[in-house]
Amino acid sequence: MVRKIVVIGGSAAGPKAAAKARRTDEFAEITIVQKSKELSMASCDYPYYVGGFFDDRNMLLCTPAGVVRDQNFYLNAKNIVAKTETEVLEINRADKFVVCKNLKTGELERVQYDRLIITTGSNPVKPPVPGIDLEGITTLQNMNDADYLRKIRDERKITKAVMIGGGLIGIETCEAMRLADIDVTVVELLPQLLTFLDWEMAKLVENHIRSKGANIITNNGVAAFLGENGKLTAVKLANGIEIPCELAVIATGVRPNSKLAKEAGLKIGAKGGILVNEYMQTSDENIYAAGDCLEVKNLITGKLVHAPYGDLANLQGRVAGENAASTNNAVFKGTYQTGICKIFEFSAGVTGLTETGAVKEGLDVVSVVNASPDKPGFMNGKLLVTKLVVEKTTGKILGAQCVGPGEVSKQIAQWAMAITGGLTLEDVINADLPYAPPFSLAIDHFIATAHIMQNKLKGRFTGISVMDVRKKVDSGEKPFIIDTRGPDEFEQMRLGIGETLIPLGALRKRVHEIPDDKNREIICYCKISLRGYEAALILQANGWKNVKVMEGGIMAWPYAREK
Ligand SMILES: Cc1cc2nc3c(=O)[nH]c(=O)nc-3n(C[C@H](O)[C@H](O)[C@H](O)COP(=O)(O)OP(=O)(O)OC[C@H]3O[C@@H](n4cnc5c(N)ncnc54)[C@H](O)[C@@H]3O)c2cc1C
Repeated sequence: MVRKIVVIGGSAAGPKAAAKARRTDEFAEITIVQKSKELSMASCDYPYYVGGFFDDRNMLLCTPAGVVRDQNFYLNAKNIVAKTETEVLEINRADKFVVCKNLKTGELERVQYDRLIITTGSNPVKPPVPGIDLEGITTLQNMNDADYLRKIRDERKITKAVMIGGGLIGIETCEAMRLADIDVTVVELLPQLLTFLDWEMAKLVENHIRSKGANIITNNGVAAFLGENGKLTAVKLANGIEIPCELAVIATGVRPNSKLAKEAGLKIGAKGGILVNEYMQTSDENIYAAGDCLEVKNLITGKLVHAPYGDLANLQGRVAGENAASTNNAVFKGTYQTGICKIFEFSAGVTGLTETGAVKEGLDVVSVVNASPDKPGFMNGKLLVTKLVVEKTTGKILGAQCVGPGEVSKQIAQWAMAITGGLTLEDVINADLPYAPPFSLAIDHFIATAHIMQNKLKGRFTGISVMDVRKKVDSGEKPFIIDTRGPDEFEQMRLGIGETLIPLGALRKRVHEIPDDKNREIICYCKISLRGYEAALILQANGWKNVKVMEGGIMAWPYAREK
């Protein structure tokens, strides 16, 4: 019997599922039903198209070999029928068909299935405020939005734009608009951008974005969009401030698009996503689902989360496609919510839990910050700041975040694999990674981060976060703070938090300058806190009992500096 497989949705998860189903069963009848005109759109590339990183719109729809994935491509190369500009209005589970509406002609059609795969994606969340329908307000969610924003970029008529939301899409669009010389303000309701990072890590990214001329307002939400003659003229914030602008991009997150599944009586989770087992099977054994429309398990916490990522959509689509075309052989177990984005010269990545997230889960964790280059200076080494989180009692790796101009992706990929393998710190401190100067330091930043954590866990140093140092200074506590760099470095750049300059090389001779009280709190740092660590060891060896190292040093300091 020829199996009929119908896929609803034709962007990321859907085509992947259909292609895998074809590779699994040469004779199945496979149909993709896609609401929009295009198929297989590379949504993740939209910000780069809008920002002018490339000009050929077809690149958003191409295979790596440059062939546009349209209806002909699917029919000829894969024997898959793709009905575009066609919306599925209803799933009839009892008689196993979907009702489709041709959006050009209005014609209705029933398409029978033996196995159905739902990949309806997600919908952008829009703040319910006055003026939301004014001209000049958009999202960046589909090809039409990408075309609209690209036109704005090319025409260069608009001078001021506001990004509503400081998540991944908000900041990627911020960069795209800044590259077109548009004045950009990013407005974020929460105290930080990029909430997948801990505050102090996100603040380093924020500082970089500001250095590129964008304005950032946190702890403030949009109250209304103001306009004249139907066109946007300003965004009004909750605190009354009005920001004049001709363009606003709403990037306040997405929600699973599970309406069809819900109406068909499939089980839906608390976050609004379709519930599936590890075979990507919904509560109906003949219906599979994949992509942004799901809730999936966070493999560390065991909780269901909405994880709208392009890589996961493809992985899940592959599993759903294979299983729908055969028996349940393939599995997708869940996510570590690994993600990355680029913003100007910085990248910001995460895998597993942040420290804030781990503490919220009630886990007993230790974190450490490592600021150091990815390669030698003569190989154009660039800074990376990594924050690693491990379980205190077992050393199990729970999460890592990395930001900076260096090769963040490699770091996050390594930590993601360590977490996937259930590795502990001990497993990675002597990891045998590839090394040559064009690629890394002899001890890669990844391993150096593990070493710092090992030193901390072994009690070789006591760390203090940049935030705790700031708090102590602001509250009038008077720890003795030592900057252990050289005078030239101090002259060029310094924190101005009441520190004393004692270069590491001079410390042994100048220990008499340290307060006599051996219980006095002493905080050491340098540019990246390697010299700060060595200074702390010298002081500890000389009897001082309360010596701390400011983790990550000046490079991880997210606050204003004196110089
Ligand atoms: C600007 C932007 C940048 C991004 N950057 C990244 C990134 O760098 N990294 C990353 O991992 N992820 C990124 N993402 C997220 C990633 O694009 C999504 O996770 C991925 O596209 C989800 O794939 P999907 O197939 O589940 O859903 P979608 O891509 O949303 O596709 C769902 C499709 O289903 C169609 N559809 C819905 N309902 C029906 C219906 N009833 N009938 C027929 N068709 C229907 C829709 O028209 C849509 O085309 C980005 C997203 C955006 C918007």
